[in-house]
Amino acid sequence: MGKVKVSIIGGGIAGLTTAIALQQKGIQANVYEAASEVRPVGAGLALSSNAMRVYKLLGFMDEVISQGRLMSSFALLDQKGKIITKSDSEAISKKYGLDNFLIHRYALHELLLSKLDPDTVFTNKKATAFSNQKDQVLVDFEDGSSISTDYLIVGDGIHSAIRKQLLPQSTPRYSGYTCWRAVMDNSKLKITQASETWGQKGRFGIAPLANDELYWFACINAPQNDRKMGAMKVLDLLDNFKDYHDPIPRILEHTEDHQLIWNDIIDISPIGQFAFDRIVLIGDAAHATTPNLGQGACQAIEDAYVLADEMSKSDKYSKSFRAFEKRRIKRTDFIVNTSWKMGKLAQLENAMQCYVELEILG
Ligand SMILES: Cc1cc2nc3c(=O)[nH]c(=O)nc-3n(C[C@H](O)[C@H](O)[C@H](O)COP(=O)(O)OP(=O)(O)OC[C@H]3O[C@@H](n4cnc5c(N)ncnc54)[C@H](O)[C@@H]3O)c2cc1C
Repeated sequence: MGKVKVSIIGGGIAGLTTAIALQQKGIQANVYEAASEVRPVGAGLALSSNAMRVYKLLGFMDEVISQGRLMSSFALLDQKGKIITKSDSEAISKKYGLDNFLIHRYALHELLLSKLDPDTVFTNKKATAFSNQKDQVLVDFEDGSSISTDYLIVGDGIHSAIRKQLLPQSTPRYSGYTCWRAVMDNSKLKITQASETWGQKGRFGIAPLANDELYWFACINAPQNDRKMGAMKVLDLLDNFKDYHDPIPRILEHTEDHQLIWNDIIDISPIGQFAFDRIVLIGDAAHATTPNLGQGACQAIEDAYVLADEMSKSDKYSKSFRAFEKRRIKRTDFIVNTSWKMGKLAQLENAMQCYVELEILG
């Protein structure tokens, strides 16, 4: 096949992992990223066995492991600290491959970037629109420049400009809860257990990272884009979670305001189509999910592997894109829908109702 130009919009986990997977199949793709640096907002990320298996197949799982921390178990607790369920990650890892692995997003991005030729990653390139021109796709960028490409892989996240143009009705939906995240020093706290606590005043997750760092998140029910929530500081969160079990109040006491990252939790209701002739959607641009199953990035990583696999089978990439969609749509729909339901359950303010629902779920 002649020099076919493949371009990727978005240098997130989906875009970068796809560029690497394609590179390994001998397909070179340029990545166009909106930010001035391919550097994500700092927070933690849990990668499950499905994502780790992809990195193993791509040949650098050990390098990923060296940048993060493996947890031996994960506990779901009530607000008094009583165990609701506890999973044995070592047993799961033995059966399905390395599970419950925690990494700083920044570390993962750095590693992914190091696998690519820097000349193939372009920053300050925010895609604003596309147009189909004969056998090419033309992409316009905010800086006034444009590219013409044979095939376009769209991995520009939940607010994808290209997806909105393809499917104007695919707007994000608000989950009903808002979320704070932080990565902080763990050298004094020395927390070693990953857990999530469900209580009447919200949910609190704890995940120790490598290099004596700790990642935590807190979700509270609230109206969308609530100014009061946006103005919350660590002391306000401490007040909200003061009756929760140790070490939650202690963690908040050690957190600084500037470490807080705040966003409303949103997803995209399944869109039913990822392949659009010469264009394909991947990652959050295709199937953004709420974080309740910790599967958003994991699914983006699976996408990368499956897409490269399909593109290596045929030089008619529109056909590969359709085959990719066929392999991915049912699974990602399931994740989005299950995670949405799980979030509703986790944010129930009535503990009794929550236990009943959990019993039903088995
Ligand atoms: C609170 C929270 C916790 C989470 N925890 C987990 C977890 O533990 N495990 C897990 O697997 N997943 C988790 N996720 C989900 C995960 O963050 C996402 O699924 C994942 O980041 C998706 O990767 P992506 O590359 O598709 O999109 P993104 O990470 O959004 O990357 C998109 C990239 O495209 C760029 N971009 C945006 N617009 C444009 C444009 N117009 N032109 C060019 N570039 C553009 C962005 O700058 C960005 O670099 C969590 C999500 C949230 C909100």
